[in-house]
Amino acid sequence: MMGGEGRDEIQRREEKTFSERNPGSKSLYDRARAALPGGNTRTLTYYAPFPLYMARGEGPRLWDVDGNVRIDLFNNATSLAHGHAHPDVVRAVQDAAALGMAFASATEWEIRLAEMLIERLPSAERVRFCNSGTEANICAVRAMRAFTGRSKIAKFEGGYHGSFDDVTISIHPSAEAAGDRRFPDPVPDSEGIPPEVVGNVVILPFNDIEAIAERLRPLRDEVAGILVEPLMGGAGMIPPKPDFLRDLRDLAHELKMLLMFDEVMMFRLSRSGAQGLFGVTPDLTSLGKIIGGGLPVGALCGREDIMALFDPSEGGGGGTRVPHAGTFNANPVTMAAGVATLENLDDAAFEQMAFDGDYLRRNLKELIQSTGVAAQVTGEASVFKIHFTMEDLVDSRSAHTSNRGLERLLFLYGLNRGVFTNTLSRGCLSTVTHQAEIDLFLEVVEGFLREIANSA
Ligand code: PMP
Repeated sequence: MMGGEGRDEIQRREEKTFSERNPGSKSLYDRARAALPGGNTRTLTYYAPFPLYMARGEGPRLWDVDGNVRIDLFNNATSLAHGHAHPDVVRAVQDAAALGMAFASATEWEIRLAEMLIERLPSAERVRFCNSGTEANICAVRAMRAFTGRSKIAKFEGGYHGSFDDVTISIHPSAEAAGDRRFPDPVPDSEGIPPEVVGNVVILPFNDIEAIAERLRPLRDEVAGILVEPLMGGAGMIPPKPDFLRDLRDLAHELKMLLMFDEVMMFRLSRSGAQGLFGVTPDLTSLGKIIGGGLPVGALCGREDIMALFDPSEGGGGGTRVPHAGTFNANPVTMAAGVATLENLDDAAFEQMAFDGDYLRRNLKELIQSTGVAAQVTGEASVFKIHFTMEDLVDSRSAHTSNRGLERLLFLYGLNRGVFTNTLSRGCLSTVTHQAEIDLFLEVVEGFLREIANSA
């Protein structure tokens, strides 16, 4: 078609509009650069030309410091189940805070939240709270090693499990460094990770059970456990093939390795989490995000015999086998926010989110088809991602073929038209994002796809 701008022109136009409309954010960013490295203290929140600074959130909407309003389709990286400032959650936080913010003692809140998780999550016989998904996975790795007496752990290429050494490996490896697709090499994603840590991590290909079995069988006395996100979120909302998770659990049990589902993000897929949705129960599960109602949280859940490692009252030999300290573990304000959040997350709430998510994905697919842009949509229940590639999306390597430039441009295009997603065109719904919000997003994506189709 004639008359469309080139992609570089679209990019320049969108950056110019963005800069003109967000002078307050720009000046905060300039100030931040003198106080924080590159103005940043959470890698994900940086994007070019400069990041937005938020002033307020309410329900499905965000207000930035320049007064621009946007629909929030990222919900703090999937951690908000009810959007912003849900009245019940705010009240719970205020009431708990007024009674004192933290004690060097337990409160009833941690029992209440643990009971709710045990009632919902098939693998949860006991629960241990901490302050982030990263911390939950740190506990999980140590527990796996302590329980089995083995040092190695296995994780998937593209799998994100937080920011500690053992798992900051092969999250986004370059194709050259990553080696054979079926038997990937471990590649650190950061400087500062000792080679001996890298050498203790076995990298597996998602959705390829034969290759996994071939890799793990000879390591049966070395690998303590397998960390897997049942639907790979960070890698691109990649679903497991039918039976993949069940086969993985059976293999883990055959080799006497522990299987952990990282449901920090995917617990939001159903009332009983991803494990309920896919019908496979692991030995351990890590949680975070929505269970804290918007406040910092993490939890490790699992079989009673494994979780007994943390028991200070009757640990082996009269002491706790795995000590787990934390000044803010089970903070009462966080626990109260989590309880109020889960109380509002009943079956009907999950059904509504799944219904809205299906509507969103179905309409995105139709728009892609009608504009002819080379793109696909993945996701399940309340999560989604748009990929600018036609590869069969089965693992992180296939997802990494997506055109990152287009993903970032769609993000910027959305910011200029009232939509906040994620720089990698990932997003999620909450119980307060309904059809009106989704339709606005669809309108923006349609405009974008038409411009891209014309510019190609
Ligand atoms: N695991 C998964 C699957 C995650 O998505 C995240 C956070 N994006 C984490 C672990 C780490 O959680 P946190 O950011 O709370 O440390």
